[in-house]
Amino acid sequence: MAVLASNCGPTAAPGCNPRPAFAGLSCRIGFISAVRRSQVMDFEYDVLVIGAGSAGLSAALTLGRCCRRVLLADGGAPRNAPSPAVHSFFTRDGIRPAQLLHLGHEQLAPYPSVEARELKIKQLTKLAHGFRASGETGQGHAFDTTARRVLLATGVHDVLPALPGFRELWGSGVLHCPYCHGYEVRDQPLAVYGRGKAVVGLALLISRWSQDVTVVTNGPGHLTDYARQRLRRQGIGLRQEPVARLVGTPKTGLRCVEFEDGSFLECKALFLHPPQEQRSPLAAQLGARITGKGAVWVDKNAQTTIPGLYAAGDMVPGQQQALLAAASGSKAAICLNEALTREEVA
Ligand SMILES: Cc1cc2nc3c(=O)[nH]c(=O)nc-3n(C[C@H](O)[C@H](O)[C@H](O)COP(=O)(O)OP(=O)(O)OC[C@H]3O[C@@H](n4cnc5c(N)ncnc54)[C@H](O)[C@@H]3O)c2cc1C
Repeated sequence: MAVLASNCGPTAAPGCNPRPAFAGLSCRIGFISAVRRSQVMDFEYDVLVIGAGSAGLSAALTLGRCCRRVLLADGGAPRNAPSPAVHSFFTRDGIRPAQLLHLGHEQLAPYPSVEARELKIKQLTKLAHGFRASGETGQGHAFDTTARRVLLATGVHDVLPALPGFRELWGSGVLHCPYCHGYEVRDQPLAVYGRGKAVVGLALLISRWSQDVTVVTNGPGHLTDYARQRLRRQGIGLRQEPVARLVGTPKTGLRCVEFEDGSFLECKALFLHPPQEQRSPLAAQLGARITGKGAVWVDKNAQTTIPGLYAAGDMVPGQQQALLAAASGSKAAICLNEALTREEVA
C-alpha cells in the first residue's frame, strides 16, 4: 500500500471563483493501493454535493473534515427562503434562513479541500466508478466535472393552491409546520386548509397551539361522520364554502380568508400540508427509486438504489426540518467517507 497525496485543485470553469486556499492544496486522501490509484485520481472530486441548504452544507463540513475533495454546487434558494426565521434549530432559534446558510458557508472556509460554487447541475451520467456532472455556472457558462460519488441534497418544492394570497403569504401567514412556526401564532385564531383525513389530523395537531381553530375545506371536505365528531369534540370549526382568496400582506401577515359568497374568516395564520415535488429531476433521471409519496428512497447508509448516488435532507423520506436535514447530511457524509475509504484500502 502507498500513501497518496493528491493535488485537489481542479481547473476553474469560466466565471467560477474557487476559494484561493483551495488552489494548489495538497490534501491526503488516505492510504490507497496502487491498483486503485488511477480509479481515484481519474475523478476531479471525491464527492460532488448538489445543493447547499442545511443538508448539503452539513455534509460538506463533515467531508471537509475527512480531507475529502468536495465540490459543493448550489443553484438557487433554499426551501424556506420566504420565511422570516428558522425556528427549532438548536442554538440558532429565530435566525434568518439566509444567515443560517451564510454561517454554514463561513464555517467551510478552514477546509481547503471543500470548494463551494454557484452551479446548477442539470445532468448526471453514471460512469464505471463514479459520475460525470454537467450544468451551468451562476454567470451562465457551461460546466462539467467528475466525482467518485454524488450526494443529492436538492430539497423539495411545495405545490401551493392556485388561489390568490397563498404564494404571496407563504412563510408569513401561510404555514406548513407548527413545530417551526406554531409558537409565534399561539392562542390566536388559526385556519387549517385541506380535505379528508389529512386535514383532520393537522387540525387536531394545531389545536395544541390555539383553542380557536377552523378547518377550511374550499368545497366539500370529504369528512366522515367520525371525523366531524372528532373536530367538534375538540371545538374545531368547519367552513366548507369555496375560498376566493387570502387577505393580507407578507409584512402585516394574514388577516382573513375570504370566501366566494363574500363572507370572511378572521385568522392570524393558515396551516396546510401542500403536496411536494422534488426540486431536481436528477435522481429520477438516473432511475433511482422514488417512493409513493415522491421522496427519493435511501437505504440505512443514505444510498439511493443507484450505487454511488446518495441523498439527504428534505428530499428523502421522513420529517422535514432544517436541523434534521443537517443531521441527515452529516450522516450521509459519514457513510460516504466510509464507503470511499473501503474502496481505497481494499
Ligand atoms: C416556509 C417554510 C418555513 C420553514 N421554516 C422552518 C423552520 O422554522 N425551522 C425548520 O427547522 N425548518 C423549517 N422549514 C423546513 C426547512 O426549510 C427544510 O427542512 C430545509 O430547508 C431542508 O434542507 P435541505 O438542505 O434538504 O433543502 P433546501 O434547504 O431546500 O436546500 C436545497 C438546495 O439545493 C439547491 N438545488 C436544487 N436543485 C439543484 C441543482 N440541480 N443544482 C444545484 N443546486 C440545486 C436549491 O437551490 C437549494 O439551495 C421551513 C420550510 C418552509 C417551506
